[in-house]
Amino acid sequence: MYMQQLIDKLGREKISQDKKVLIQHSKDESIHTAALPDVVCFPESAEDVAEILKIASESLVPVTPFGAGSGLEGQAIPVHKGIVMNFERMNKVIDFSPEDMRVTVQAGVTRLQLNEQVNASGLMFSVDPGADAMIGGMVATNASGTTAVRYGAMRDQLLNLEVVLADGRIIKTGTLAKKSSSGYNLTGLFTGSEGTLGIITEITLKLHGIPEYNMMARCTFDSLECCTRAAQNMLQAGIPVLRMELIDAVSISMINRHSGENFPVKHSLFFEFAGSERAVKEEVELASELMHNHGCENWIAANDTVKMKQIWKARKDLNYAIACQEGIKEIGGDVCVPISLIPELVSFARTRMDASGLNGAIWGHVGDGNFHTSIMYNSSVEGEFETAEQTNDAIVLKAIEAGGTCTGEHGVGLGKMKFQKAEHGAALEIMKQTKRMYDPKGILNPGKIFMDE
Ligand SMILES: Cc1cc2nc3c(=O)[nH]c(=O)nc-3n(C[C@H](O)[C@H](O)[C@H](O)COP(=O)(O)OP(=O)(O)OC[C@H]3O[C@@H](n4cnc5c(N)ncnc54)[C@H](O)[C@@H]3O)c2cc1C
Repeated sequence: MYMQQLIDKLGREKISQDKKVLIQHSKDESIHTAALPDVVCFPESAEDVAEILKIASESLVPVTPFGAGSGLEGQAIPVHKGIVMNFERMNKVIDFSPEDMRVTVQAGVTRLQLNEQVNASGLMFSVDPGADAMIGGMVATNASGTTAVRYGAMRDQLLNLEVVLADGRIIKTGTLAKKSSSGYNLTGLFTGSEGTLGIITEITLKLHGIPEYNMMARCTFDSLECCTRAAQNMLQAGIPVLRMELIDAVSISMINRHSGENFPVKHSLFFEFAGSERAVKEEVELASELMHNHGCENWIAANDTVKMKQIWKARKDLNYAIACQEGIKEIGGDVCVPISLIPELVSFARTRMDASGLNGAIWGHVGDGNFHTSIMYNSSVEGEFETAEQTNDAIVLKAIEAGGTCTGEHGVGLGKMKFQKAEHGAALEIMKQTKRMYDPKGILNPGKIFMDE
């Protein structure tokens, strides 16, 4: 019945039940089990989205928005089947105002497409989660990445959202003004809501100037304590690093084994600096002095492209070292704690991983206190998945106990639902009430964030 209504309202060309298309929309980049939707819709406007939601609401059909499918927590998997909404046809830049350093895009524009369009005007969109995610998906997960230490996460880039509610109403959550004290912060509420409160159709973003000069640097430390103290000191000294990443010593040896490299097997910090040439050179000099005061070794810095690539190679190779092991899967962790607690949490994670007998890598956006763990297991070896899961749970609960969060950037989806009570306590019930208010029939991405909704 609802299928015919979708065809009548949207036309056949905007919906697909092709097996290949259904399979493509049954999974994301996580380890969570795929689930086939019944149909995939390709809306071309907010009005199309509103029509789909009105039909779904009337027939009580689940609707799961789907961005680029690069999520790591199963957020876009249609676990209760129904309709998946794909935004690839909503890929237009609607309004670009270089003078105001502002752009309004449809939800299906990807971050690389956006940068291609605005870079020629000397401007850039700063959030870089690695994958070429859609802006709608990035808002829905409050994505960040290596540049958040300087520019903040997705939430910090937003001026306004256009959102279609579960009953088909279309609302705006903000204005074009750079700041506002007016009304509740609905923009903030929809950011990170993973498609469970409304469908984001348009996003107005702040842009940043492209720095004229870049340099990269790397150094190593014998102790994790010195390594993170040095990182902390870098921020306290007001040096505006563009990126500041940590990789622990065990993970460096894993990279060496995989890539045949010979990086010093020590706790390592990787930096990128960006700005005017004079300022960057001064910052790098100051950073070198600071790092040496904290006992660093193997300091190297460069600004030519080849050398910069070499410096960043270990950081880049880590992903391949993890992904390219045949038959091996990973449980990925994404905890975030105050930066002063990083040594304690990283040591705890390393001890638990080593005690589990499984391989594990640790790296992180140390400036934000956000670090990733990859606990690797062979799914055909009995008990390995359970051991990996227990190890991951222990690390996450320790981070929450320390006042941190189970996820700094990847989101909750299916993987982090079980930690919501421990992290939010009584506030979890308020979140559930909010969900019921926005989505009383429970059609929007059901089965995510809350265990029992
Ligand atoms: C190699 C790799 C590295 C990564 N590194 C990082 C990283 O450093 N930092 C980081 O933050 N993330 C990282 N990620 C995760 C991922 O890229 C982000 O979570 C990204 O924001 C997801 O965007 P997407 O378009 O792929 O959304 P999807 O995965 O398709 O969907 C994510 C969620 O958003 C919802 N959604 C999608 N579009 C809309 C919409 N228009 N309205 C409402 N809800 C919507 C979906 O329902 C789902 O709940 C990485 C992923 C990979 C594969």
